[in-house]
Amino acid sequence: MKSICEKIKEQGALISDGAWGTFLIANGLKAGECPELWNIERPDVVRGIAEKYIAAGSDMVTTNSFGGTRIKLAAYGLGDRTVEINQAAARLSREAAGEEVNVAASIGPSGKILMMQDITEEVLADVFREQALALEAGGADACNVETMSAIDEAVLAVRAIKESTNLEIICSFTYDSESGGTYHTMMGASPEEMALALIDAGADILGTNCSQGSRQMIDVVRALHRAAPDTPVLVHPNAGLPVLTDDGETYPETPDFMAACVPELLDAGALIVGGCCGTSPKHIEAIKAAVAAHQ
Ligand SMILES: [Zn+2]
Repeated sequence: MKSICEKIKEQGALISDGAWGTFLIANGLKAGECPELWNIERPDVVRGIAEKYIAAGSDMVTTNSFGGTRIKLAAYGLGDRTVEINQAAARLSREAAGEEVNVAASIGPSGKILMMQDITEEVLADVFREQALALEAGGADACNVETMSAIDEAVLAVRAIKESTNLEIICSFTYDSESGGTYHTMMGASPEEMALALIDAGADILGTNCSQGSRQMIDVVRALHRAAPDTPVLVHPNAGLPVLTDDGETYPETPDFMAACVPELLDAGALIVGGCCGTSPKHIEAIKAAVAAHQ
C-alpha cells in the first residue's frame, strides 16, 4: 500500500482519527482496568472504533496500544503478554482498514525518565523495539510515537523503531502553553529543538497532539513547519481543555468549532489533521469537510 507521505504528495492534506479512550469508557472500561487488554477480551469494541473513524472519513487510523510498552503493561501484571496484546491491536485496526487506509499504531511514553536514570538507554530501546515489532507483525504500516515530551526518549524510540522495522514513523509531542505565544513541553523542549532532533533520528512525519485545543495548536504547527519545511506535520488537538462536571470530564470544542480552526491549521503547515482527547467521529467528519473545502 502507499505510505502516508506518498499519499500526501499525491492528494495533499489527509485526515486521521480522533480519541479512542472515550469509546472504551463508554463501553464500560473501568478506572484501573488495562485498556489494551480489550484487544484480547473485547475485540469487537476495539475494531468498532477504527470502523467508525474510517466511516467518518479517516485516511489513517491508530490502534489501541498507547500504553502497550512492556513497562506499562507490567503495571497490570501483563508484561509477558506484550507481544500478543500489541499484535492484536494492529490486527484489529487492519481488519477495519483493509488495504487502502493506513494503520499508524500508537506508541505512548514509557513513563520512565532517562535523565533521572530511571532506566538505561539499552533497556528502553528494547522496550520500544519489542512493541514496534509486534505492531508491525500485527499489520501496522506506520507508527505514531505520540504524546512525547522528552527529546531523549523520543529520539531513542524513533531510532530503535527505524533500525528494526519498516514502519513509517510519525513522532508527535505534547506542548504546554507559555506566555508570549511560545510553547514548550513539560521537559522543556521547544518545537524547533524537537523537529531537528527527531528528523535526525529518522522520523518521517512530525506532529503535535493532546493538552491544547485547536486554536492553541496553530502556533505549534507553524513553528514545526518553519523548523522542518520539507517534513509533513500532523496535528491532533484535544476538543479543548477538559471541564469537570457531574458526569465526569467533558470537552468544550464542538465539531463545528474544530472545523472552523482547520483553515488556519492548514495555512500554518498541517498536512494531517485529526483529534486527541474528547474528539469523536463527528469531529472527524466536520474536520474532513473543512479540509476538503479549503483545498
Ligand atoms: Zn489527548
